[in-house]
Amino acid sequence: MTDIIHNNIGDRMKKQSIWMNEYKNKINKLNKDIECDVLIIGGGITGLTTAYHLMNKNLKVVIVEKNQIGCGTTAKSTAKITYLQDLIYTKLKDKALPYLKYQLEAINTITKTIEKENIDCDLEKVESRVINKNKDKLIKEKNILESFGINVKLINNYIKVDNTYVFHPIKYLLKLKEILLKNNIEIYEKTNVIKIHDLIYTDKYKIKAKKIVLACHYPFFLFPLLTPIHCYLERSYICSIKNKTNQNFSLISNNPVISMRYYKDNLIYLIGSHNINNKYNETKNFDKLIKQASKFGKIEYIWSNHDIITNDNLPIIGKINNRLLIGTGYNTWGMTNGTLAGKILSEIILNDKYYELFDPKRNLIFNINNLANILSTSKAYIENKIILNKKWNKNVIFTKINDDSVGIYIDNNKKKHIVYNKCPHLGCNLLFNDVELTWDCPCHGSRFDIDGNCIMGPSCHNIKYKKQ
Ligand SMILES: Cc1cc2nc3c(=O)[nH]c(=O)nc-3n(C[C@H](O)[C@H](O)[C@H](O)COP(=O)(O)OP(=O)(O)OC[C@H]3O[C@@H](n4cnc5c(N)ncnc54)[C@H](O)[C@@H]3O)c2cc1C
Repeated sequence: MTDIIHNNIGDRMKKQSIWMNEYKNKINKLNKDIECDVLIIGGGITGLTTAYHLMNKNLKVVIVEKNQIGCGTTAKSTAKITYLQDLIYTKLKDKALPYLKYQLEAINTITKTIEKENIDCDLEKVESRVINKNKDKLIKEKNILESFGINVKLINNYIKVDNTYVFHPIKYLLKLKEILLKNNIEIYEKTNVIKIHDLIYTDKYKIKAKKIVLACHYPFFLFPLLTPIHCYLERSYICSIKNKTNQNFSLISNNPVISMRYYKDNLIYLIGSHNINNKYNETKNFDKLIKQASKFGKIEYIWSNHDIITNDNLPIIGKINNRLLIGTGYNTWGMTNGTLAGKILSEIILNDKYYELFDPKRNLIFNINNLANILSTSKAYIENKIILNKKWNKNVIFTKINDDSVGIYIDNNKKKHIVYNKCPHLGCNLLFNDVELTWDCPCHGSRFDIDGNCIMGPSCHNIKYKKQ
């Protein structure tokens, strides 16, 4: 059964996010050593929003992006802009009210920016729903929100709020890029930062910067044990289905996890979500999605994505030291939290403000989730060392050439694509994702295309096999 469904994927569905359809972008690569006041590493929603708030402030601001603008986690999200985030306010306890205020501020920032800059990104006001089988949990979340003055309705097995949105994240980011360039922000794409020292080193050039903003999702050069000590990575499977019954709501449900929203005549449907250290069989995971989603119509796009889940469910935004700042750990709510990070990081740079709630140096270590994270990352590391040399499927072989462990993918034209079977980040062995045709690290989430080019961090190196 699995193979039947899997074989059909190739014929019928595009293995990419719907937001990347018709992606057009003109890029400029870094071609010399440069100096700047603020260097932003990463061209996702965090990086571009930070630059937007630093425009025209008498600072030389530069963005470097290792691939292209928006193509990281942001391009693969479901792009809901909402403050109703499952049962977050129950979880956050005494931090719930300040978190809510920041979410509302972020929604206001993003919608006002879209209006002010006249950005055509299919912004749509929709109602947000959270479904849960346990009515008591819904009532508790509703009561908390109502005590903060939010109007929440309980209907059957869900709660709902108004004044939330959905949009097209790539149209938004590409327009922001245009605005940034017009306002003298320099943007260099296909420019990979590989080392931060007194200078910042890209593959070929050096950058001198007074401040550095790490907007690169999973930072490889700092927080060496970000996973598993401070957080874990959660992966989900998403598809876009042709469906003419566009409805004016977005929803999420826990147990089982489902997330839905509409985009024009498409239904975006997500299932998952699991710690990337577990459930490695991507064929099986995608098959499950296809089985569930097919009942809504014809699936056109299919992809997966992962985000950083912090131990205390709050984002990591702020100063690491006087030179380094970071925005990450958005717990799958990066449209609001990435926007918020952009505002906060710019405020820190311009006015040295302090935001205690999101402080990167807060105590994330002594947390009940920590032991489970450490065990699952260790399990992933060891398990994949052991399955080395196992035949993965008929097109993929793990073997050794001379003394090097390699993975070989044999494409439909019988061409062999050979990569080192070792993630350059911390040395984990890789798995093959034979739906999206990527080599994935099950420990910290680096992803590489079939030829070994790194498409998602924390690795900042490729794994293309070089004949000795
Ligand atoms: C399945 C799923 C669904 C989601 N849906 C939603 C949703 O509906 N609503 C919501 O609010 N959030 C959602 N999120 C969360 C959201 O997508 C992310 O939190 C957000 O996109 C992160 O943005 P970012 O700018 O931090 O990272 P990214 O978008 O990943 O940007 C980081 C950029 O840095 C670049 N980079 C990395 N390393 C380097 C380097 N060494 N040198 C140069 N550049 C580098 C990368 O190439 C990348 O482009 C979802 C997440 C998942 C996993």
